[in-house]
Amino acid sequence: MAPAMDIETPNVAENFNDHRDGLALEATSDAIDDVNVMKAAMKVKNGTATQEEVDIYDQSQFDAEKDKTQFRQYEDACDRVKNFYREQHEKQTVAYNLKARNDFKTKTRAEMTIWQAMEKLNTLIDESDPDTSLSQIEHLLQAAEAIRRDCKPKWFQLTGLVHDLGKLLFFYDSRGQWDVVGDTFPVGCRFDESIIYPGTFENNPDSKDPIYSEKHGIYSPGCGMDNIMLSWGHDEYLYHICKEQSTLPDEALAMIRYHSFYPWHSAGGYRWMMNDKDEKMLAAVKAFNPYDLYSKSDEMPDPAKLKEYYMELINTYFPPREGETERVIRW
Ligand code: FE
Ligand code: FE
Repeated sequence: MAPAMDIETPNVAENFNDHRDGLALEATSDAIDDVNVMKAAMKVKNGTATQEEVDIYDQSQFDAEKDKTQFRQYEDACDRVKNFYREQHEKQTVAYNLKARNDFKTKTRAEMTIWQAMEKLNTLIDESDPDTSLSQIEHLLQAAEAIRRDCKPKWFQLTGLVHDLGKLLFFYDSRGQWDVVGDTFPVGCRFDESIIYPGTFENNPDSKDPIYSEKHGIYSPGCGMDNIMLSWGHDEYLYHICKEQSTLPDEALAMIRYHSFYPWHSAGGYRWMMNDKDEKMLAAVKAFNPYDLYSKSDEMPDPAKLKEYYMELINTYFPPREGETERVIRW
C-alpha cells in the first residue's frame, strides 16, 4: 500500500466565504485593541509599567480628552470582548489546534501576491461599509509608515505592512471569529493567569485534562517557543506562510507570530518556556507592538502613492520565482 500522502493536490478553486461578516470581525478586533490600549494605560496609571512602557504611552498621542473617550469605548468594548473571549477560551483546545494545523498543511486556500492579499482583505472586510473607521489597507500602511518614519530596517517596515494579512483566514475555513482574532496563548499546558479573563477557561475541556492542566503540560521549561503550540488564529497562520515563503528574518517572524501574545509580551507570563533565542524575539515583539496599537490615529496613507515603495520591499523579502514579476503566495 502506498504511504499516506501528507499533501493533497492544492485546491485553489475554493471560493471565498463571502457571507462572513467582515465588519463584525473588525468590530471585535477593534474592541480587542481598545482593551489592550486601556490595559497599557492602566499599567502606566497604576505605576506598574516599565519606564519604556511609560515613554511609549506618552508618545502615543493619547491626551486626557482622548483617554476619556477611550475609557467609554473600553467599557462598551468589555462586554463584547468578554463574550468573545469566553467562546475563544472554551474552544481553543489541543485537539482543535492539531486539526487546524493539519487543515492548514494539507490545503492551499488561494494563490495571490501580497498586494492582492491586502486588497482582498480590504474588500472582504470593508466593502459593505465605506464609512468604516479604518480600512485594513490603511491599518497595514499606517503601521508600516510609522515604522519607516522611525528609520527602522526595511524588513521591519514590511512586517508592519503584512502583519494582519492572516485575517484572510476568516474567509476560508475558520470556525468563527474566535479562531482568527484576539489575544493568543499556549495550548497543552495550564492556562495562565496572565491571559485576559482567566476565569473563562472553565468550560475548556483541556483545563480538566490531567496533563494539559499541569503548569508545564506537554512542554518542559526552557524548551523554546518554536516548540510551543500557540492558539490558532491570524498570527499563527501568517507566521507559517511567511516562514515557508519569505526570506524575512527571525525577528520579523516573531513579530508576526507573537503580536497578539499579550500574556507573554505585555503581562510577563510564560517566561519558563523561553530559551536564549526567545529573549531576543521578545525584544523584537515589544518593539513592534506600539506601531500596531498606536498608529491608528496617524494621517491616512494613500495606497496608490505608497505602492511603488512597498512593492520593492515585498519583492525583496518575497522574491519572485522564475517567470514571475511578483511572488505568488500560497495562502
Ligand atoms: Fe493582528
Ligand atoms: Fe494589527
